[in-house]
Amino acid sequence: MSPNALPARPRLADHVLARRHLVGEDERILLHDVRTGELLQLGAREWALLSAADGTRDVEGIVIAAAREGAPARIPAAQAFFEQLHAAGLLAAEDPAEEAAPWARATAATTATSRGPATPAAPADPAPDPGARDPRERPLEVLPDFSLHCDGRGSCCRIYASILFDPEEAARARALRPEVLSGGARHERAFTPERGAWPCAASVVAMRDGRCAYLEGGAGRCSLHAAGGPDAKPLGCRVFPTSFIDDGEAIRVSVAVECACVLASVGRPGGAPLVDPRLRARGDLDERLDVATLPDRPEVAPGVTAARAELVAWSRRLAAAAPPPDVAAGLFALAAAVEAEGLTGGAIARFEQPEPLDPAALAPWLAALHRRAARRAREDAAWRSERDLARKATQWIAAATFALAEPDLLAALLQSPAPDPDRERFTLRAALHGHRLLGALPLSLALRDRAVRLVVARALPLVCAEAGADDPACAEPIALVEAMLRGHGLDAYAADVARAS
Ligand code: SF4
Repeated sequence: MSPNALPARPRLADHVLARRHLVGEDERILLHDVRTGELLQLGAREWALLSAADGTRDVEGIVIAAAREGAPARIPAAQAFFEQLHAAGLLAAEDPAEEAAPWARATAATTATSRGPATPAAPADPAPDPGARDPRERPLEVLPDFSLHCDGRGSCCRIYASILFDPEEAARARALRPEVLSGGARHERAFTPERGAWPCAASVVAMRDGRCAYLEGGAGRCSLHAAGGPDAKPLGCRVFPTSFIDDGEAIRVSVAVECACVLASVGRPGGAPLVDPRLRARGDLDERLDVATLPDRPEVAPGVTAARAELVAWSRRLAAAAPPPDVAAGLFALAAAVEAEGLTGGAIARFEQPEPLDPAALAPWLAALHRRAARRAREDAAWRSERDLARKATQWIAAATFALAEPDLLAALLQSPAPDPDRERFTLRAALHGHRLLGALPLSLALRDRAVRLVVARALPLVCAEAGADDPACAEPIALVEAMLRGHGLDAYAADVARAS
C-alpha cells in the first residue's frame, strides 16, 4: 500500500488534540496538531464522523456508525473528508511503529498545555543506583512560609486549554451534573479524548466561552464541588496549583504562580497547606499524582550540562541569597554570569547586585514573544469567544510586547521601580523551590525568559486599563503571564530567541 494512501481504517493521530468549545450555543471542534502548531476547526457533523473513526472501521463503517448517532453523511463526502485530514498529517499511520515518535512529542505538548499538577521539568528515566535509597522514601520538602487562600472565583478554571478527567472522574461528573452539555446521557457530549481518537485513557472537558463547562455561570464556582464536595473534582483540579518534582534528594513541593490566588496569598498565613502536613515522603503521595523527575544532567547553558546534585546545591545557595533590588535585572545578570563562569558563588553575587537591565538586551526577547502572541491573537479571533479570558489575555500580552518595542517606553519602564517587588521575589522563590527553571530550556535561557515575563507583567496593568478590562485575573499580572505562557504554549518564544541567536 502506498504511504500516501488513506489508511483503510482511519483514526485521528495521537499528536492531534481535539477540543470542544462552545461560543454561546455555537459548537466548534478544534483539532490542534502539536507537531506543527496548526489548528483546524470542524463542525459538529464532521466531528461525529471523526469520533466514529476509532481505527476499527473503514469509511463505509464510519458513515454507518455516524448515522446511528444522528449525523448522516454520504460515503464520497466522508472519503474526501478523511483524505483531507490524511493530507494534513492528522490521521494515524497504518503502521503503529511510525506513530511512536510523534506520540512521545504529543505527550510532552499535552503536559505543557494542561491544567493539573504542573510539571516543571521533562521527566527522565534515572539510571538505577543499587546503593540509592528507595525513591518512595524521599522526603517531601514543601515550599516554606506559604499557604493558599483560594478565592473560589474560578479564574484558574477559565484559562487552561485542557482540563483532564480520568474515566472515574468523568463518570462522577456526568452523574452529578447530567444536564451539563447533556453529558449525563453521553460521555462524548461533554468530553473529547485527551489525544487522538477514542478510546483514550483520559478525557478533556468541553469549554464554554473558554471556561470549564462545569464552572457555574454567575458565581464562578465549580458546580462539581458544589454538588459533591471537593473530592468530586478531578485530581488535577484538587492538586492545582501545587507542583511536585523529584530532584534525587527530596520531592520538592512548590506552587505554580499561574493563578491570582497564589500571589494574593503571599504573606498571608492561615491558608490551606500545599499538601496534607501528615504526608512525609513520596510513598505517602497519591500514586496518580504527576511527580516530575529532574534530569540527571540538566543543561545550565547552551551545550553545557551539570550534575543534578551540583545544580540542586547551587539552587539552594541561590534561594538563600539576598534578593536583588530588581529581580528581573538580577535574573538577566545571573544568566550572563552562569554562561561565563558556570555555577559559582560569583554568579550568585552578580545576581544580588545586578547592573540595570539593558533595553537592547531585552528587545529581541520581547519581539519574539510579541510575534508568538500576535499570531495567536489572530488565530483566536477566528474561533474563540470574545468573552474568553485566554483570548483577551493573549491580546493584552501582544499589546504589551508591542508597546515595549518602543525604546523610550521600555527604558522608562525599566527605570521605574517594580510595582510589586514582593510578588516578583515570591515568583522566583517558588520557581527555584520547584526547580521550575530547569526544564526544556538551558538554565541561562530560562533565567532570561523569567526576567522577560516579569517585565511584561509590569506593563500589563497599563494595557488592561487602556482596554477597560475589569476581569479579576488582571489583578495579578504575573500570574496571568505565567499561565498564558505555559498553559497556551507562548513560552515557545524563548526557543525562538535561542534558535535565532
Ligand atoms: S472541574 Fe471544577 S475546579 Fe476543575 S476546572 Fe472545572 S470548574 Fe474548575
